[in-house]
Amino acid sequence: MSAPVKKNDRLTVYIEDLTHDGNGVAKVEGYPLFIQGALPNETAQIHVLKTLKNYGFAKAVEIIKPSPDRVDAPCDYFQQCGGCQLQHLSYEGQLKWKENMVRNVMQRIGKINAPVLPVKGMKEPWHYRNKAQIPFSANEAGQAIAGFYKTKTHSIVDMERCLIQTGEADAILAGLKKELAAMGILPYNELSHEGMLRHVVIRTARATGEVMVVLVTKKKKFPQKEAAVAIIQKLLPNVTSIMQNINSNKTNVIFGDETVNLWGKDVIIDTIGDVRFEISARSFYQVNPEQTEVLYKQALDYADLQGDERVIDAYCGIGTISLFLAQKAKTVMGVEIVPQAIEDAKRNAALNGFTNTYFEAGPAEEVIPRWYREGKEADVLVVDPPRKGCDEALLNTILEQRPKRVVYVSCNPATLARDLRILEDGGYQTQEIQPVDMFPHSTHCEAVAWLELI
Ligand code: SAH
Repeated sequence: MSAPVKKNDRLTVYIEDLTHDGNGVAKVEGYPLFIQGALPNETAQIHVLKTLKNYGFAKAVEIIKPSPDRVDAPCDYFQQCGGCQLQHLSYEGQLKWKENMVRNVMQRIGKINAPVLPVKGMKEPWHYRNKAQIPFSANEAGQAIAGFYKTKTHSIVDMERCLIQTGEADAILAGLKKELAAMGILPYNELSHEGMLRHVVIRTARATGEVMVVLVTKKKKFPQKEAAVAIIQKLLPNVTSIMQNINSNKTNVIFGDETVNLWGKDVIIDTIGDVRFEISARSFYQVNPEQTEVLYKQALDYADLQGDERVIDAYCGIGTISLFLAQKAKTVMGVEIVPQAIEDAKRNAALNGFTNTYFEAGPAEEVIPRWYREGKEADVLVVDPPRKGCDEALLNTILEQRPKRVVYVSCNPATLARDLRILEDGGYQTQEIQPVDMFPHSTHCEAVAWLELI
């Protein structure tokens, strides 16, 4: 097919769909154009930016007939920052779009006919992120700037506030930036590999109010540390932990290997439902704990535990779902590939006094078949794999061992649909799919699927 449009053409199109990047999709004689700034059901005048053989890119220059769900994006940085893709769509519009997206993907990719329920969204879809990781640098005049990386670049856009992170993060961002020069702390320069302060990470425990601030520095020797601690305490009187992480490498990775305590405790404690979690500077933890509770309650509901079930939690991370399930199950065995996460899971199980959990580090697709060979069977299997979905060997193990119920927590509807098809072909029936909005204003959507052996 040759492109029916060329670069710099202007034309008027009707927008049919929205991509994962938040771009509108229109078709010109069957040729798809991905259009920045346009929403489904809009008519827009567009400017063609680039054409390839099978598709092209354009940007909306005028919205001729706006979508009824269009709103003004409330954030000043929406156009430059890649963090949110859907702020120009009302929150109700976002939830409707996500519900349809999940339903369409289920049918198109998996031919899955189970009901897809309306997305469980947030009452207040702002300031939900409990972790902010803010890069610091200097502008041409040598003043400290801090904010976010401009979409697809490594240049920092200076920012005052972010509408999805917490007020604590905003306070540190603005306050530290102002005080840095007076303290004699040079922000890091990525090109010259000079300067001291690379990133500031702020972690907030929503349930307990504890706050950790981590200063990521180029060197361990940090003569201004007392001054920095004093400023942080002044900016955030409720801070409970101030840590320094040392990253001397020329790298995009935020953290280095060494973390030292500057003041207060080494960890903060948060709770999800009735389960307590210890969070250290670098430990993995869900970024939207309010919706995590919604998601995992749903998983627990679908697992329908009566107290005598043996449960396996595959891809268990720090054991968040496992410990939720352990409240109702006879035993829970969790497996996860990152050994550090398994250490966290064990610590959190002990912190909560669970004695019916067992955790092991390793690939789920190898560890679970071995458990079965050793006679460690499961009545209910929960999986929460990364975006690429379940490993085929794990799906085969499920089909061979036939646990009566499978609960599939997914961050990628496309691989969920693919895997549900495999499980349905092998004797399971999907009963229901509940999408949950973990990341308002982004195009991501999590979903929990409930399957029964038939
Ligand atoms: N349920 C977890 C998060 C799951 S995210 C929680 O609630 O915290 C997916 C997890 O799968 C990640 O922690 C990742 O490290 C892990 N993972 C990736 N590949 C894996 C594999 N082959 N076997 C086991 N775990 C794996």
